[in-house]
Amino acid sequence: MIYDPLKAPHPGQGLAHEESYWTATAGAEPGDDGPVAGDRDADIAIIGGGYTGLSCAYHLARNFGARPVVLEANRCGWGCSGRNGSFARPALGRLKYTDWIEKWGRARARTLFAESLEALGTVRSLIRDGAIACDVQPDGSLKIAHRPGAVAALERDHRVLVETFGYPAELLDGGGLEARHFKGEEAFAALRLPDSFALHPLKLVRGLLEMARAADAVVHGGSPVTAWRKDGVRHVLKTPGGEVRAGTVVLATNGYGPEHLHPVLRSRLLPVLSNIVVTRPMTSEEKGACNLVTTDVMFDTRRMLNYYRRLPDDRMLLGNRGPITADPAILAAHRDVLLANLKRKFPPLKNITADYFWGGWVAVTRDLMPHVHHAEGDPSVHYALGYCGSGVAAGLHAGRRLAERIGGGAEVIPLLDRPLPRIPFGAFRRFAQRMIFQWYGYLDDRP
Ligand SMILES: Cc1cc2nc3c(=O)[nH]c(=O)nc-3n(C[C@H](O)[C@H](O)[C@H](O)COP(=O)(O)OP(=O)(O)OC[C@H]3O[C@@H](n4cnc5c(N)ncnc54)[C@H](O)[C@@H]3O)c2cc1C
Repeated sequence: MIYDPLKAPHPGQGLAHEESYWTATAGAEPGDDGPVAGDRDADIAIIGGGYTGLSCAYHLARNFGARPVVLEANRCGWGCSGRNGSFARPALGRLKYTDWIEKWGRARARTLFAESLEALGTVRSLIRDGAIACDVQPDGSLKIAHRPGAVAALERDHRVLVETFGYPAELLDGGGLEARHFKGEEAFAALRLPDSFALHPLKLVRGLLEMARAADAVVHGGSPVTAWRKDGVRHVLKTPGGEVRAGTVVLATNGYGPEHLHPVLRSRLLPVLSNIVVTRPMTSEEKGACNLVTTDVMFDTRRMLNYYRRLPDDRMLLGNRGPITADPAILAAHRDVLLANLKRKFPPLKNITADYFWGGWVAVTRDLMPHVHHAEGDPSVHYALGYCGSGVAAGLHAGRRLAERIGGGAEVIPLLDRPLPRIPFGAFRRFAQRMIFQWYGYLDDRP
């Protein structure tokens, strides 16, 4: 049974990773400090052992001499961080650049864009500092117009990037894409960002685990927090092996946090399934017919977007959203949908088959922005949540920003340091999601 954060009390205890291309190719798992055994004290407890929690722990320990304790229900990277699509991009949430400007004005939009580039810088420096061997690919991302009607929006984004943000984005027409990147269908133009790269997400999280422990953070796998109470100013976090008492708590559970755990989680996030298929390696004929010379990460302009890339061993990865619940029959059918999407984009791959299929919960917020804030009325509870499906760079960076705030009193930029808005009629979130997905599907299929 797949864990559902809107229903289950916690994500499980000590569970194995969901099988994926990443688990098959990540190599040996480094050790952690084992499950909590007996009651213990900590200055700072961090719930969740993904990019956010481990980055926060590492930066707190390395830069501020803290000895944070990470509590991970299963094993580090078991959530999104070990099973994602592998794209590290300068992305903060899901709003368009033009929306940023409309909502907040040019100056604050510029600050936000600069923060997104800084987030990518955090990924690069973590990989460099830890000499993490995580199969980093050459830079570049392509946002690809899947229909002629989508080209105008790319042109608008391009103008904002170049004229307002002073950023060297590039607009390619169909011919430019074919000459330099690949030959395929549903590719009428593309917006190329020279910063962005693909990596191996599980190798990255494991490298980070080693860095955090080497810096003196303590990491307890197999330690779900099943209850949380206050005893005076101390937080008491109950795990199956004992209670952890801490003065400061960081919630780094993103799409995997159970609703009941703390009031900041209640009706604040919509966990949305994202699923991925990885094919068998392409033959050299198949690869040649698609002229797949690009190492860029790619995604299309659909609202129900497809994200895809060529892997170093010449397999293709493609993911998207669609199923509302983790019903096994619906998921099995979705695997074929993903393969069909890939074949439509690359007709010479008509005979390609899938070797791997898996999925996970991304956390969508009401305002489509991530939030790096603290509980209302209790500044000792910090959180970084709601990356809306783009959390590789954003999660690692938010963890760093939280560490700088907790350890050094630094401010997080105001557009991120805002309370997570409540989703109205939270009990009906999935019903609304179903309606919205159907509407998006209709819009995407227009010519
Ligand atoms: C299929 C898929 C594809 C994606 N592709 C991309 C991509 O290409 N690029 C990108 O930028 N982003 C992508 N994302 C999103 C990205 O992976 C996430 O935003 C990011 O990993 C979030 O990291 P995190 O550390 O905040 O949360 P997670 O990695 O999800 O970690 C949360 C952890 O909290 C633990 N936990 C929850 N509750 C408890 C509890 N009560 N006690 C103890 N532990 C608990 C869970 O076990 C989990 O390990 C994708 C996500 C999915 C699912």
